[in-house]
Amino acid sequence: MTAALHWSYLAAAVCFILALRGLSGPRTARPGNLIGAFGMALALALTLSATHLSNLVLLIVAMAVGVAIGVPVARMVRMTAMPQMVAAFNGVGGGAAALVALADYIRSSNGVALSTGNRLAVMLGVVIGCISFAGSVVAFAKLQELITGRPIVYPGQQVVNGVMGAAALALTVTAIIGPHVGLVAIVGLIALGLGVAVVMPIGGADVPVVISLLNSLTGLAVAASGFVLHNVVLIVAGTLVGASGTLLTRMMSQAMGRSLANIIFGAFGSVSAVAGADGAGGERTVRSGTADDIGTLLAYSNRVIVVPGYGLAVAQAQHTIRELADLLESRGVEVIYAIHPVAGRMPGHMNVLLAEADVPYEQLKEMDEANPLLPSTDVALVVGANDVVNPAARDSPGSPIYGMPIINVDEAGNIIFLKRSMRPGFAGIDNELLYNPKTTLLFGDAKDSLSKLVAAVKTA
Ligand code: NDP
Repeated sequence: MTAALHWSYLAAAVCFILALRGLSGPRTARPGNLIGAFGMALALALTLSATHLSNLVLLIVAMAVGVAIGVPVARMVRMTAMPQMVAAFNGVGGGAAALVALADYIRSSNGVALSTGNRLAVMLGVVIGCISFAGSVVAFAKLQELITGRPIVYPGQQVVNGVMGAAALALTVTAIIGPHVGLVAIVGLIALGLGVAVVMPIGGADVPVVISLLNSLTGLAVAASGFVLHNVVLIVAGTLVGASGTLLTRMMSQAMGRSLANIIFGAFGSVSAVAGADGAGGERTVRSGTADDIGTLLAYSNRVIVVPGYGLAVAQAQHTIRELADLLESRGVEVIYAIHPVAGRMPGHMNVLLAEADVPYEQLKEMDEANPLLPSTDVALVVGANDVVNPAARDSPGSPIYGMPIINVDEAGNIIFLKRSMRPGFAGIDNELLYNPKTTLLFGDAKDSLSKLVAAVKTA
């Protein structure tokens, strides 16, 4: 490889680092994304320029197939289906890393000597890539509801997983010591089984965290391929994905108040939902209000804190909430959006939605900034959120979400819930707050309800 190629690869790697930096804030995310795309285009162009002509045709055909599938899928995907898309793309990445590693191993058994270090990298690529591929396929199927989102568990499951893990490890070490292509294929099959076995017992609400973990594993598999292929940009890009994926996984588990071990081994969601979680709400009564009454309450408030959640994304009500907020502000009401780190179904879900509606960044407050403001707030307007405001996370040690930090909307003067029914949120547990004397429910699709509130505030 020429020095010029090395320097250019380095330039691409620098672009990836700058892209990550840009992506860490809403204002710089768009340019950050463009810098990353430029770096990737540069890396691809360099790789193509250094490729033998006969392979070039194959590469271009493969890229054309990838573009033909990837571009329309990425354009058409609904925002709420983004985690599935990430799972699918991640699975493909893991599978590709495993195949590259396997090809290298086959090459080594055909007389192209690989050092022990390189064989170690190859085997890591096969094992991690296969686990990531199979795990991502199961995660995709769960989120797409092709299979049940509930944890699939059976007695002795962790022993079976442990035996599979130990077998994969022993065979991997054997394959590193001396080349055996057949052995590598068996290791690959066991790793595929392990990927399925590890993700099956994970409940739907935890699947996005697992996708983030699998994503970081794919990064490591890609970095391992980079060592074997002596490709700097693969090593850097793979390491960046591995490191950022690990950080994201950690931050997501922290925001859910759980340890990563609990998420992977805890079979969260297998618990039966508490009374009322079936949507019937048991024998207890709740107070539902009219749009006119709630509109008047909002119009004569000093401060309203909006807590958006998954339902806002489902209803695609981001523009309507902005319209309501603008209207209230024009009447002198202070409007703040309190953003919980795991509101919605993917990290940053609410920020992306609200940015789409051009909600000013100054109005967005992180949970820690918003919580101290709630006791002096007239109305907490909960739009399609549930788990992220559920006081059980704070007050009920037996609850599956106990320990998750929440937005303390029960400290506001009035609580308004916009939701369609008494059904629970993603964790599948009842929310005491719905029965709180301070709470009024406005049943219906969030977009319709917000439109009614806009009309009501206009006439208040
Ligand atoms: P929840 O899933 O807890 O609640 C969403 C609420 O929205 C439901 O109660 C539902 O009630 C309501 N809803 C759904 N559709 C509509 C609609 N069209 N109009 C009005 N309301 C609607 O969402 P949260 O955002 O509060 O919590 C996120 C959950 O996802 C947490 O459990 C979190 O741990 C989990 N999670 C989040 C991740 C992330 O990165 N963001 C990652 C992994 C998990 P109804 O059906 O009655 O309308």
